Amino acid sequence: MTNPIDKETIEKKSLNFVEQAIESDLAEGKNNGKVQTRFPPEPNGYLHIGHAKAFILDFGLAKKYGGKCNLRFDDTNPTKEDNEYVEAIKNDIQWLGCEWDNIYYASDYFQDLWDLAIELIKGGHAYIDEQSAEEIAKQKGTPTTPGVESPYRNRPIEESLALFEKMNSGELEEGAMVLRAKIDMAHSNMHFRDPLMYRIIKHPHHRTGTKWNAYPMYDYAHGQSDYLEGVTHSICTLEFEVHRPLYNYFIKLLEGSSLAHQEDSRPRQIEFNRLNLTYTVMSKRKLLTLVKENLVNGWDDPRMPTLCGYRRRGYSPESIRLFIERIGYTKYEALNDISLLESAVREDLNKRATRVSAVLDPIKLVITNYPEGQVEMMDAVNNPEDETAGSHAIPFSKELWIERNDFMEDAPKKFFRMTPGKEVRLKNAYIINCTGCDKDANGKVTTVYAEYDPQTKSGMPEANRRVKGTLHWLSTEHCLPAEVRLYDRLFKVENPGAEENADFRNLLNPDSLKVLKNCYIEPFAAGLEVGSYLQFQRIGYFTIDSDTQNGSLVFNRTVGLRDSWGKINKK
Ligand code: ATP
Ligand code: MG
Repeated sequence: MTNPIDKETIEKKSLNFVEQAIESDLAEGKNNGKVQTRFPPEPNGYLHIGHAKAFILDFGLAKKYGGKCNLRFDDTNPTKEDNEYVEAIKNDIQWLGCEWDNIYYASDYFQDLWDLAIELIKGGHAYIDEQSAEEIAKQKGTPTTPGVESPYRNRPIEESLALFEKMNSGELEEGAMVLRAKIDMAHSNMHFRDPLMYRIIKHPHHRTGTKWNAYPMYDYAHGQSDYLEGVTHSICTLEFEVHRPLYNYFIKLLEGSSLAHQEDSRPRQIEFNRLNLTYTVMSKRKLLTLVKENLVNGWDDPRMPTLCGYRRRGYSPESIRLFIERIGYTKYEALNDISLLESAVREDLNKRATRVSAVLDPIKLVITNYPEGQVEMMDAVNNPEDETAGSHAIPFSKELWIERNDFMEDAPKKFFRMTPGKEVRLKNAYIINCTGCDKDANGKVTTVYAEYDPQTKSGMPEANRRVKGTLHWLSTEHCLPAEVRLYDRLFKVENPGAEENADFRNLLNPDSLKVLKNCYIEPFAAGLEVGSYLQFQRIGYFTIDSDTQNGSLVFNRTVGLRDSWGKINKK
């Protein structure tokens, strides 16, 4: 019998460290038992799988603890932000099955942030600095030497107030002045050395237009928005750990201001490790470069680590969730192997994908003793892993396509595919015996010949005869032409985003996309929708690409059947 205390400890262990922190806050009665989180993307690009790791946690915690999670667009830099990104972000979050309670924007708080800034100037907590960015940077000092105080630091409050208004009036150029918090130029945490609170940006904002010319900085805006919104747990990535004391400092000032709310709750920032994946980059800035310089075909290029890229490539939302669940949340930075993601995709698609037959590198097979003009509809099981998935019919006839590499004229002993004098099974159809082949002037095989045994049709007793190889095939007369796009890793090196790889563009894999134009697929595929999850028998997982139009089918390879990258295309 298990001791109840042991059981409790075990359950505790299965929580991640963020859940443990929340549970201990709840146990202490903090925030009146409320749990509220937010996901705060900046609408300056499409979401990547790293963002999914963040928002699955944010939305997941709210759900688990019966709280709210708002989607809050962190739109404090109008030069890079756009509505296109806002819409794409919403779409991608929903695709992964997450739901927000409300949608907010940091810009909803611009007025409050402004009012608070004025209070802070009045209280001697902030001042206008007219030095250039370079001068300010020079005065920062180093972690071991104190910084130098700005000559404007002790200017009269009235002067700062007037200049702050001016910063927002539109009459000043960008960089003319900034609002800085007046904290401590000798502080051991560099973020406390009079951090910037506001800068001038003269660019229309995607929501507030030209109303503002002075925009708040992240460190000032983020915690305040959290507080004003009622967030209790503000989850972010590890690089913000050193910002946490400043986050708390600004919130404390807010609590002492006229904007303080009556609620007994204040946000607590908790940091976890970012997701980094091998053979790709995970920064919006770098992904934007790939898009802008046409190094990929847009944000949803199936080679991109964006959620829209993975969707187009044929990844299911469940497979991404499975991967995120497996890697977990820790306090240590790591580089996760992309093969972990791929094995999660295989595992999920194995249960989900409809099995179809496609031939990517066709060679003709003639069944010489099969009646001319006869067509049999064979039964093809849609998914052997799922009894409820049913089956569909695939036409069989005298002339078939098979894969070129499934035939070998002089085969080694261990070759269990087609070679003269040996039997193989045609999937869902008959056992055939190869009788020979034709070759062109260059010795290239043009046609393979075989005889079928009519007693071996699937379901007949003779069909159980021991035969080593099973091949997929298509009836030449009935199948459909298709274009198949094979994707490989986008980069040649494991960690293209590493600091030493300053120009990651030079590290792109030149063979990351291979387009096969002369492929065929069974007629059943014509009725399937873009985005359907498919398994091409014996080849891999595929999906129908959105470039499919007017009956011309285009497929993307999602992932191979096994972890053997490039095997199909390099053969
Ligand atoms: P990038 O560095 O890719 O531009 P970002 O941090 O600037 O990303 P935001 O839109 O600010 O992008 O991110 C929204 C949230 O997603 C933040 O809370 C951030 O911590 C989190 N996030 C961003 N990248 C990752 C990642 N690779 N792994 C986990 N969380 C991430
Ligand atoms: Mg950011």
